[in-house]
Amino acid sequence: MALIVQKYGGSSVADAEKIKNVARRIAKAKREGNQVVAVVSAMGDTTDELIHMAQQISEHPEEREFDVLLSTGEVISSTLLAMALGNLGCKAVSLTGAQAGIHTDSNYSRARILRVDPERITNELNKDNTVIVAGFQGVTSNMDITTLGRGGSDTTAVALAAGLNADMCQIYTDVEGIYTADPRLVPQTSKLDRIGYEEMLEMASYGAKVIHPRAVELGELYNIPILVASTFSDTPGTIICKEASMDMEVKNKVTGIAHDTNVAKITVVGVPDRPGVATAIFDPLARANISIDTIVQNASIGNITDLTFTVARNDLYKAMSIVEPVAKSVRSKQCVADSTLAKISIIGSGMQNTPGYAARMFRTLSEQDINIQLITTSEIRITCIISEERVKDAVRALHKTFELEIA
Ligand code: ADP
Ligand code: ASP
Ligand code: MG
Repeated sequence: MALIVQKYGGSSVADAEKIKNVARRIAKAKREGNQVVAVVSAMGDTTDELIHMAQQISEHPEEREFDVLLSTGEVISSTLLAMALGNLGCKAVSLTGAQAGIHTDSNYSRARILRVDPERITNELNKDNTVIVAGFQGVTSNMDITTLGRGGSDTTAVALAAGLNADMCQIYTDVEGIYTADPRLVPQTSKLDRIGYEEMLEMASYGAKVIHPRAVELGELYNIPILVASTFSDTPGTIICKEASMDMEVKNKVTGIAHDTNVAKITVVGVPDRPGVATAIFDPLARANISIDTIVQNASIGNITDLTFTVARNDLYKAMSIVEPVAKSVRSKQCVADSTLAKISIIGSGMQNTPGYAARMFRTLSEQDINIQLITTSEIRITCIISEERVKDAVRALHKTFELEIA
């Protein structure tokens, strides 16, 4: 008997009919002789609606209350799915993240899973129950509810697969797998049969929201192959695993294009160029748990320079409130923010040690008359920060340049 962890995203459980469809799929997996643990997201746009509700009460809601509020979305869908399974004669029990033994740190809205205590789930499975777990949430050692960051139900699923030593982790969503670019943006995009963890982690971290980056990290850490496939069809999907197939690498050194519009840029203008300034700015940001992405500092002229870095848009308010007083204290001229930017990235492990990819990317963008504001790279990725308005043109043009279109 195999133990399968499945995850169904928000659009897969958006209404009663869709929940019944998911229940049928789970019941089928059960009938085929498997034990099933299914993780669910909140129905449709529920999380956005809950955020909106909180913002109507308070512009910057109290973090602890905010996380409890957001966690309720997944609680609703998990209970409804358990009821739908019951109607099909399939015994099921819903569990919140806390009941399911997901223990996290206390960084509200971006909590990290510290450990999974699978005892309750195992007990339920032993009673022949199918277990439905509310995704995206956990509990601190103080019994406070936390959430794992937007898209975090994927991470719940992979963490449970690791904690339960499951045979398989399947992420079901509204597309048929991982594509060479967001299929909503590029009509000619092609589906990958397999992709390596490293490439998928770069794709996900740089905006391909089809899977949460931390889910990929956990998959790699515990060596769990992850299937990404459609909730609405039986087409095979994409396997995220140790390495991509060799022939794909030979065929094309760029595996995919990712884009991310959740980007804001902060520039500290006229910073004195002396030891200790970067620490003074970045230390408090790190302590506030704000992830900094691209950092650029120019060579100074007359001992004065500009320091630019990017953060997620939803961190901009917090980041500015930290950086502005520091910028003043180190006697810089001013602090400016821009939240109308986007990142576009080309990703491929085959690009390692191969010259010419950056040049081709920059040429393609220049042919589109797209201005590059910042550039960052890793061994297998090149990222440009551009104006948000031009994202679609950039992704489509790069998809063409790197010959990723369906043959
Ligand atoms: P779910 O609600 O199931 O978690 P998400 O909306 O989080 O689904 O993720 C699925 C979406 O990810 C797709 O609808 C697609 O628009 C987007 N996406 C972005 N990049 C890619 C990609 N490279 N391959 C597939 N989907 C992608
Ligand atoms: N419901 C949460 C969100 O919308 C978590 C998830 O769907 O994975 O981000
Ligand atoms: Mg998602």
